[in-house]
Amino acid sequence: MSGIDLPRLLPEGLARLSAYTPPEGDYPVRLDANESPFPPDPVVLDQIGRALEKMSLNRYPDPYSRGLRSAFAQRFQCSTQQVMAGNGSDELIGFLLWTLRASQGQSPPVVVIPTPTFAMYSIAALVAGYKVHEVPLTSGLEPDMEGMLRAVREKKPSIVFLSSPNNPTGTFYSREQVDALLGSSTGLVVVDEAYGDFSGEASWVAEVSNVDNLAVLRTLSKVGAAALRCGFLVAGCELLDQVNKVRFPFNLSRYTQVAGEIFLKNYESTRSRVIAVVRERDRLEAQLQRLSLKVFPSRGNFLLVQHQGKEEALWRFLQDGGIVVKFLPCLPVAGDALRITVGTPEENDQLMDRLKDFLAEGG
Ligand code: PMP
Repeated sequence: MSGIDLPRLLPEGLARLSAYTPPEGDYPVRLDANESPFPPDPVVLDQIGRALEKMSLNRYPDPYSRGLRSAFAQRFQCSTQQVMAGNGSDELIGFLLWTLRASQGQSPPVVVIPTPTFAMYSIAALVAGYKVHEVPLTSGLEPDMEGMLRAVREKKPSIVFLSSPNNPTGTFYSREQVDALLGSSTGLVVVDEAYGDFSGEASWVAEVSNVDNLAVLRTLSKVGAAALRCGFLVAGCELLDQVNKVRFPFNLSRYTQVAGEIFLKNYESTRSRVIAVVRERDRLEAQLQRLSLKVFPSRGNFLLVQHQGKEEALWRFLQDGGIVVKFLPCLPVAGDALRITVGTPEENDQLMDRLKDFLAEGG
C-alpha cells in the first residue's frame, strides 16, 4: 500500500504556513482579536432571542440571505443586488479569489498587497494558486503609493487588497490614494472596511455603482457581533453574478441571517459603542506614549505598539497577568510589535497598570 504523497498534492508554500491558533486558556482581559469589548444593546439581544425561538430548524435557510442583504443595503445605502453575505468577510475574500483566478490570462494570477497587512489575503491567495506581490509600507507605516502604483502597472494584479484602516498598523488610505489605484488598475481593487466604523470617514460602499473595478468588504465582527460570523461584499452586479456561482448555496445559517438582520436594523445602537472605543483608543494612545512606548497612530480599534525590542517579554508579562494582546513577531518593515485591541475603560486601565509594573521591574 502506498501512502499519500502530501508534498506533491499541497499548493506551494502551504506547508510553511501555520494554522491560526488562538491563545490557550482563560484570560480575564482579551485584547488580541480586535473584537468589540461591548456586547450589543440588551434590546437588540432580546429581539434576536425572540426571533430565534420562532425559527424553523428543519428547513434550509434562505439561500440568498435576502432579509439580511436588504438590511445591509438600507443601512449602507446601496442596492441589495450589489451585496453578498458571507460567514465573515474571510469567506468572501476566498470566494473573490476563486472567482478571479484566471483573469487576464496570467499564469499564475497575481494579487498585490501592502505589507504588513491582514494575513488572510496572502494565505487565501496562495491556497487559490495566486502569486502574492507585496509592497512594504514606508518606515513610518504609511502607504508607499509610488510602489503600489508601480506594482499595479507592472504586475497587472487580478486583485489589490487594501485593508483601510489597515490591520495591524491602523494606516488609512485617503480618497486620492484609493482613486489613484482604481484609476490605474484593470483588475479589482478591494477596500476592506472591517474597521471602517472607527475611521470616522465615509464608506466606499456608495461608490460601487460608479466604479466597476471597486469592491468593498464590511463585517459585523468588529462592532459587537463577532460570534455571528457575518460579513458583506459589495460589488457591481456583473461581478457578483460570477461570484454567486462560486458561493456555496446555503452559506449563511438561518441563525446568522436572522440575528444579523436585527443587528443591522438597530445599527444606530452601535454608534455610541464605536464612539466609546475611539475615545478609549485615543486615551490609551496618549497614556502609552507618556510611558515612552512607540505607538503608531491608528484609525482602527487597535494600536500597534513597540518597546525597545522587548515586545515578546512584555507580551508574556501581560499574559501572566491575565491580559492577552497579539504578539506579531518579525513584521515586514516594523519588526516585532504588539497589536493591542482597545478594551473597555476598566480593561484599558488594567492593561496600563500591568504595563507600569513591567517598566518598574526594569522591562
Ligand atoms: N479583514 C480584516 C482587515 C480583518 O482584520 C479581519 C479580521 N481580523 C477580517 C477581514 C475578517 O473578519 P471576519 O471574517 O470576522 O468578518
